[in-house]
Amino acid sequence: QEKTLFNVHDIFDQIIAFIYPRLLEFNVELERRIDRDLYIEGYVEEFRQVIINIIFNAIDVLAEQESSSAIKVKGYRNEDSIVLTISNTGPKIPDDLLATIFEPFVTTKKSGTGLGLYVCNDIIKKHNGKLLCTSNDEWTTFTIVIPIASQEL
Ligand code: ADP
Ligand code: MG
Repeated sequence: QEKTLFNVHDIFDQIIAFIYPRLLEFNVELERRIDRDLYIEGYVEEFRQVIINIIFNAIDVLAEQESSSAIKVKGYRNEDSIVLTISNTGPKIPDDLLATIFEPFVTTKKSGTGLGLYVCNDIIKKHNGKLLCTSNDEWTTFTIVIPIASQEL
């Protein structure tokens, strides 16, 4: 497995095509604002998996929800980093759960593995990045901060 240079906007095109049937199935509105000129040097397959995991978790929450069901994705540059945020509407994650959410085997689902976010965090660390989660009464947001590819500096 080798590192490659990939465009974040293009990756999201692929991801959205892949998840589109699920968005339709659960009536989820997706808003996307990702800048065009963002490149990452890394493991594209694993990176794609991180985003898909986070979005599938969001859809799990939204599928249980009757009120407005939306996912917002943003991507922009901040100094030498790319910031990606993936937010979904939904109730606030309790503080004790939030504190352990990236640990293995932490799950609130009947047949969850609790490994998704653990693996996501591991992959982002391997890219010298950070994965964070914040949650309030309206939105839960996962933020990825990852170095921008040196070609772009
Ligand atoms: P799993 O999906 O198998 O439960 P994950 O590691 O992907 O494992 O997620 C762990 C737990 O974190 C979930 O069971 C859920 O309780 C919580 N979680 C993850 N994403 C969200 C989200 N977007 N909103 C609320 N809770 C979430
Ligand atoms: Mg999961």
